[in-house]
Amino acid sequence: RIATAPVGEDLYAVIVPDVERVQDAARLAVRFHEAMTSTTGVVTHVGIACSPDDGTIATELIERSREAVLRARREGQNHVEFFSSSMSRWAFERLTLEQSLRDALRNRELVVYYQPRVDVESRAIIGMEALVRWIHPQFGLVSPGQFIPLAEETGLINPIGDWVLRESCRQNAEWRRMGLPRILVSVILSPVQFRKASLHESVVSALQDAELAPDGLEREVTESLLMNDPSETAAVLGRLRGEGIHISIDDFGTGYSSLAYLKRFPIDSLKIDRSFVTDVTSNPDDAAIATAIILMGHSLKLTVVAEGVETENQLAFLKVLQCNEVQGYLFSPPVPADRA
Ligand code: C2E
Ligand code: MG
Repeated sequence: RIATAPVGEDLYAVIVPDVERVQDAARLAVRFHEAMTSTTGVVTHVGIACSPDDGTIATELIERSREAVLRARREGQNHVEFFSSSMSRWAFERLTLEQSLRDALRNRELVVYYQPRVDVESRAIIGMEALVRWIHPQFGLVSPGQFIPLAEETGLINPIGDWVLRESCRQNAEWRRMGLPRILVSVILSPVQFRKASLHESVVSALQDAELAPDGLEREVTESLLMNDPSETAAVLGRLRGEGIHISIDDFGTGYSSLAYLKRFPIDSLKIDRSFVTDVTSNPDDAAIATAIILMGHSLKLTVVAEGVETENQLAFLKVLQCNEVQGYLFSPPVPADRA
């Protein structure tokens, strides 16, 4: 449904409906420019105006893309220019990041860090949460907060998440072979991965290939995942748990699950979101929420884990509330496997 029309000497308008993201417009323009240059030898310049940001009527959009193309010709550095320069910067940054994220797996730039989860009473290590890191050759350490949303948007989270799973299972099997205490490795399951029909099979094959017993693996899903399509979600989780792996609910407290609601899901533990833990000793509301989650979790026979514990005071407080396990900088930040 792409429409083209001449709009001047040497000038063509190309109208592309349904472009969702500015970086897709940038990608399209770059491809167009490259294709023209390689097939015809004619150097083209592309100017981009986006609706609704740059205008909502055709004449306005054509006028603004004309301005952008003239700027591209005049300045001669870039063959592709957006009408809005801030949009241009954003689009090309995203495009660069996206392209290098595609290469990251192949170039072995991803690393799994592990953060211990500790029993409140004995302070023994119960498990390790796997948290992915991207060591980019130029940008250095890119935080998952920056690239996971992009990976989810582009579907790259599927191969990335699968790699994190396989690597974490391999690592835990190695720890067990070394004779270390048997712990579980906890791997985040993105809602995007959750919707894939191949999920179950990929978990089973990761365990098999790593020769890790299912009790060595936990998958973390967020509370918000439980909200949409609860019966289907419960079925998928039930099948995974049927294999013998643990299921935990991450970021708990940020959604609106009730006791009755939670009872429907086959789960082993609840992780209290860090936002309630930070001020648990000073903010009565946060203390009330943490208390409610712990009581609710225990009445459902679940293990309750507090995330983001940074101080002895928070730990002491959570101990009084009979929280079972904690994770946070107090014990250790996420670290590479050889330091875990
Ligand atoms: P999250 O699941 O809520 O992970 C917890 C984050 O809190 C981690 O940030 C961790 O480093 C940080 N953290 C742990 N203890 C403390 C503490 O005591 N204080 C403070 N201030 N922070 C603490 P990180 O590793 O940067 O991960 C950020 C987010 O990226 C994660 O949030 C998760 O949503 C996502 N993510 C990370 N690894 C993966 C992955 O392998 N797959 C998927 N799908 N998402 C991932
Ligand atoms: Mg988490």
